[in-house]
Amino acid sequence: DKGLEKTRKNFSERIASLFTGFREIDDDFYDDLEEAFIGADVGFNMTIAITDAIREAIERVGATKQEDVKRIVIEEMVNIYEKNEEGNTAINENPDGPTVILFVGVNGVGKTTSVGKIGYNLKQAGHKVLLAAADTFRAGAIEQLNVWGERLDIPVVTGKAKSDPAAVVYDAVKKANEEDFDYLLVDTAGRLQTKANLMQELAKMKRIIERENPNGIQEVFLVLDATTGQNALIQAKQFNEATEITGLVLTKLDGTAKGGVVLSIRYELDIPVKYIGLGEKATDLQQFDPEQYMYNLVS
Ligand code: GDP
Repeated sequence: DKGLEKTRKNFSERIASLFTGFREIDDDFYDDLEEAFIGADVGFNMTIAITDAIREAIERVGATKQEDVKRIVIEEMVNIYEKNEEGNTAINENPDGPTVILFVGVNGVGKTTSVGKIGYNLKQAGHKVLLAAADTFRAGAIEQLNVWGERLDIPVVTGKAKSDPAAVVYDAVKKANEEDFDYLLVDTAGRLQTKANLMQELAKMKRIIERENPNGIQEVFLVLDATTGQNALIQAKQFNEATEITGLVLTKLDGTAKGGVVLSIRYELDIPVKYIGLGEKATDLQQFDPEQYMYNLVS
């Protein structure tokens, strides 16, 4: 897996160094393991919890061999990730109309790019996809989404710069229903200047969507830049206080050794990761698979 190479390398180099030559599974081993987790931005609380779980599992079976210890490390990472998971990584589908997904996040995290990539992913899976450029606030966001739409042959509903995003959302939901689209992906200006501001902005969109779409909104995805490590966790907490986030899109995992932040977010907030971004191209996206992810981090 080329995309995750950097994340994998840094973390796994540390893990691997734990296993070079004969290594006793002693307190030093667990200290070094903790350091590797901290370095991968797993976060302090999660690091303690997961190291304890690994220690307990290793002692339970009396593992001493490298491959056994490594397998236990991966198993416990997956276990702890999945422990509190509500549902799975699949999208919550609308049975009676288009599935509407709002995308929120601070500038530069890869929000517009992720809308394009996920649109492409869904289109490749045979679905009819509509995009809405409701980020009328950031200069360039509308044009950028239009470029994605043209490149991928996916229609984009737009308004004028600085116009009311709610008007764009209204047009898009109407079109999605009238023309039987399966998915409507909305690139919102949902960013956190103030909590009240974000809540107000999203509440207005939600009202319109609830009025115009059967079953309203299905998902609100928060896009986070993995290279910001623990800052991503702080953003997740703040957004989650302002509105109910139903899933995460973690971007730029191709350029970071901070992939462990997934575990940290999982520990602090009960929000599943839905997709990971591994580059700038349409194909640089994967549905999140906890087992595969943890395996890649360690192997
Ligand atoms: P927005 O302001 O949140 O909408 O961010 P953009 O979608 O404009 O993305 C900001 C920058 O990050 C752009 O240069 C994107 O190409 C880049 N980007 C987005 N996702 C990824 C990713 O997964 N990997 C890498 N390497 N770059 C990304």
